[in-house]
Amino acid sequence: MKETAEHVRGIDLDIKMLESEDFAPILDRAEKRIREALRDLSVYANTKPLDDPRDYEIEIFSFPIAVMLVAATEDSLIKSRYSLAEAKRASELLREEEKEKLLEVANNFEWGLRLVKDVSLRPYVFALRFPVFLKNATGFHDKNWKLVNHLLINGEVYLTEREVSRLLEEEVRKYIEGKLDTKVKSLPSGIMARVNHLRQLAAKKREEIRIEEMPKRVVMEAFPPCIKGVYDRVAAGRPASHMGRFALTSFLLGIGMSVEDVFKFFRSVSDFNERMTRYQVEHIAGSRGSGTKYTPPNCSTLHTHGICISPDLECKGAVNPLVCYKRKLRNVTEEKQ
Ligand code: SF4
Repeated sequence: MKETAEHVRGIDLDIKMLESEDFAPILDRAEKRIREALRDLSVYANTKPLDDPRDYEIEIFSFPIAVMLVAATEDSLIKSRYSLAEAKRASELLREEEKEKLLEVANNFEWGLRLVKDVSLRPYVFALRFPVFLKNATGFHDKNWKLVNHLLINGEVYLTEREVSRLLEEEVRKYIEGKLDTKVKSLPSGIMARVNHLRQLAAKKREEIRIEEMPKRVVMEAFPPCIKGVYDRVAAGRPASHMGRFALTSFLLGIGMSVEDVFKFFRSVSDFNERMTRYQVEHIAGSRGSGTKYTPPNCSTLHTHGICISPDLECKGAVNPLVCYKRKLRNVTEEKQ
């Protein structure tokens, strides 16, 4: 909220001060937020009630400090899990709030949300400008979020309280994610030690995800950057674009994963819809519909869709991510020998 940001800005904080004893509880809380996000994709409330003004200060300051720590890790898994976990927490807390509070928070992001007074339109209690709805709902794959399933009058989409808090979750996630791309130049050694510890935890988490969800023969180090990018999003529980999901699914099937393994992997997507996902995976594998097994889209298509962001050496001259994977696989195997 703008007021909280003002409050934080009002305190002239020097980065070196963070190493003093006084700031240890803030750093501890900030680090805890990140560890929980990485481990459980959640940020839990404090176990003891906040009854001292100092507790509120710790809670408030631990957020920007956590953002700084996450940005300093420069780790995509920590970044995506942290922004999603904080957004989920915000959304859960907002569900307990009055409509007026939701309105205040939404308009903090300049949504232009308004309360619907007409009781005949219940359960809809909010009206939201169509472009704002579209901006935040495009990543949701559940049919309930399709525009045809919503009331649209004069350019406004009518929504329930629960729907607004879910859309706000997406707004908060994007807001935090935007902050995490800041380049953190240098940090005092004590804080850098915390950053390095978080990086180690992320490496462990990556390995856990790999063991749980990927069969052994799949060599993740050989994934082309485009597929790795979509994979990281999905593994972090974040929705990926339709093209991104299609590319990832056809790629995983293309490198020899079974329909069942791919299906199990997609279980970690936050808006996972079992029936829909199974249908899509089987369709791409060719065991449904026309029987055509799809190969991953070519690099030029992925480039057009903004999925080919930072090609690496092995991408040179490759027309398809499978070509890049084979080249990388050869290099990884040679390195290991
Ligand atoms: S060049 Fe092809 S394989 Fe490499 S990142 Fe781009 S789309 Fe992926």
